[in-house]
Amino acid sequence: MTTSTKARGPRNVSRARMTTPKLALATSPAAVDRIAKAGLSRGKTFLSRILRVKGRRSIENTLDPYNEILRAAYEVVQQGELVFNVHANAKVRDAGNRAYQAGMSFLTELTLNRDLYEAFEKLDVRSRDAETRFAVFKIRRDFKRAGVDKDEATRGRIKALNEEITAIGSEFDRNINEDVRSIELDSPKLLEGLPADYIAARPAKEGKITITTNYPDALPVFQYARNAEVRRRMQWEFLNRGYPKNMAVLDRLLVKRNELARLLGYGNYAEYVTEDKMIGSAKAAADFVGKIEKASGPRTDKDYKVLVERKRKESPFAEALDSWDPSYLIERVRAEQYSFSSQEVRPFFQFEKVRDGIFAITGKLFGVRYARVTSPTWHESVEAYDVFDDGARLGRFYLDLHPRPGKFNHAAAFPLIVGLRGTQLPQAALVCNFPDPRTTKGPALMEHNDVVTFFHEFGHLLHDIFSGGSKWLKTSMGDIEWDFVEAPSQMLEEWARRPEGLQGFATHHETGEPIPKELVERMERAQAFARGLLVRRQIFFAALSLAYYNRDPKDIDTTALAKELNAAYYPVPWYEGTHFQCNFGHLNGYSAVYYTYMWSLVIAKDLFTPFQKKGVILDPVQAGKYRRLILEPGSAKPAAAMVREYLGRPPRFDAFRRWLDQGAS
Ligand SMILES: [Zn+2]
Repeated sequence: MTTSTKARGPRNVSRARMTTPKLALATSPAAVDRIAKAGLSRGKTFLSRILRVKGRRSIENTLDPYNEILRAAYEVVQQGELVFNVHANAKVRDAGNRAYQAGMSFLTELTLNRDLYEAFEKLDVRSRDAETRFAVFKIRRDFKRAGVDKDEATRGRIKALNEEITAIGSEFDRNINEDVRSIELDSPKLLEGLPADYIAARPAKEGKITITTNYPDALPVFQYARNAEVRRRMQWEFLNRGYPKNMAVLDRLLVKRNELARLLGYGNYAEYVTEDKMIGSAKAAADFVGKIEKASGPRTDKDYKVLVERKRKESPFAEALDSWDPSYLIERVRAEQYSFSSQEVRPFFQFEKVRDGIFAITGKLFGVRYARVTSPTWHESVEAYDVFDDGARLGRFYLDLHPRPGKFNHAAAFPLIVGLRGTQLPQAALVCNFPDPRTTKGPALMEHNDVVTFFHEFGHLLHDIFSGGSKWLKTSMGDIEWDFVEAPSQMLEEWARRPEGLQGFATHHETGEPIPKELVERMERAQAFARGLLVRRQIFFAALSLAYYNRDPKDIDTTALAKELNAAYYPVPWYEGTHFQCNFGHLNGYSAVYYTYMWSLVIAKDLFTPFQKKGVILDPVQAGKYRRLILEPGSAKPAAAMVREYLGRPPRFDAFRRWLDQGAS
């Protein structure tokens, strides 16, 4: 691994400093406001410095200060977003949101600044290195995409629209985060089928057991509860999170984004948002959805038949599945026909061991080690770690892994400081909702799904850290094509699914016995069951996200369109009276481009093929090559070029198809 480090040469980050993510660590609304204001005024100072230049445009008087502007603004935006999602105090969360919005608004204004645009038009970078040329290419492109060449009145309208969209999006997210619902059960008998520790951790209070829509509460109910009525009640609440508030919020979001796209000269928002992705156009995105739909067709029909048949064992006259059935029935078929129960593996996934296992595996693969540091954090439960390669410190990450009230209720990695070569080290946070050892009676055991999520999100974190030697903000990982960004984390999931990966850390919490190879292989076979159906569900989401944004929103009834696409792509009928679109958070963050998950999965499967070919998945040499060619460049070149360089050929669909067909007989 040291060879790969040395080979990095110019990307050496040793002179870079560990700075303090001040806004992320602020403890009062006033402090958040003050730090955000200071950050943005720093950005403004650099802006006026660029605009004051009279003579020839140079890197020093244009790109360097522009980089400083982005550096200041990104920290406000990124850390504001983190604070909004994690702070224990609602007032501080609101301040985080204000900071985020102020930062976004500043960035929008920047891309609409005609004088700044003209400064870049005059900057000659033809004799500069490729990374610098690519940075400037993207800066110019983004100016045009933002509408900088429109007249002043239009630019004013664009700016106002962007601000409205940011605010509406935050409202949409907040309505989901804060709408924690619950059902009450009269007796633990209704939880039959659920793990004993799950039931023990939820004793009745005044005769009632409360189960919330938070993931650690709700997901096991869908998966294990024998009582269909309990699952139905849970699903009703789960699919109605954010309803009715988000109905109008979503309508507004679609209208405003469409208006923006039209002002910018695009037919609709989907056309606008796909243009700078790997996929390149809304048409190509729709074709891709169609390609996966077709590839998954026969497999899906088969999966569905098996599940309906299994349902008949409990409901003899069932003709179809209900929306609260798939997780449960898939689990049953896996147990009965593949002799695999998710609960069988849970005792091997004690939270602390999983965390340490991820450290060990990624440490071995990428030649790094993680050292716990006593750094201030935003909550007492958050841990901070530094990443070292030999003696060189590469960056810092924070693990915020357990649920608490008001916190973001999904799983994501948040960059806090973007690493810049010779200047500052990267820092990022992982925010998840895994079982908490401090509040769980007995060991905090994870579902295998949680373990996969942990690897996935850790993949994002490593991408942040390893790409920390970017020359410019504009060539850092944050600027990579959006439909590529999931590929590295999806690839890291492979180590959470295979015996060579799992056996290194998954040991039984009571006996200490490593997870048997035979059990992991059985799990792999069982998990391959229903893959067609699960892919179709993703394709339904992708089609929905595209359809909400690729037409005139005045014709859209969001519920009717969701039902229509559900019927077209996913064989499980829509649950009448529910409003999935109100809690489909990606409709804000991802807008039209939910397809990116499947697109990058196709790439991830391809990226993993060299490991499979060698038959050694814990191969530091291959992983070193991967780190060097895929992770470290950030966005210094187009993702497609990185993939070709790493694979030594253009990307292919074959590995994905093999995965899709795995176990189908
Ligand atoms: Zn991800």
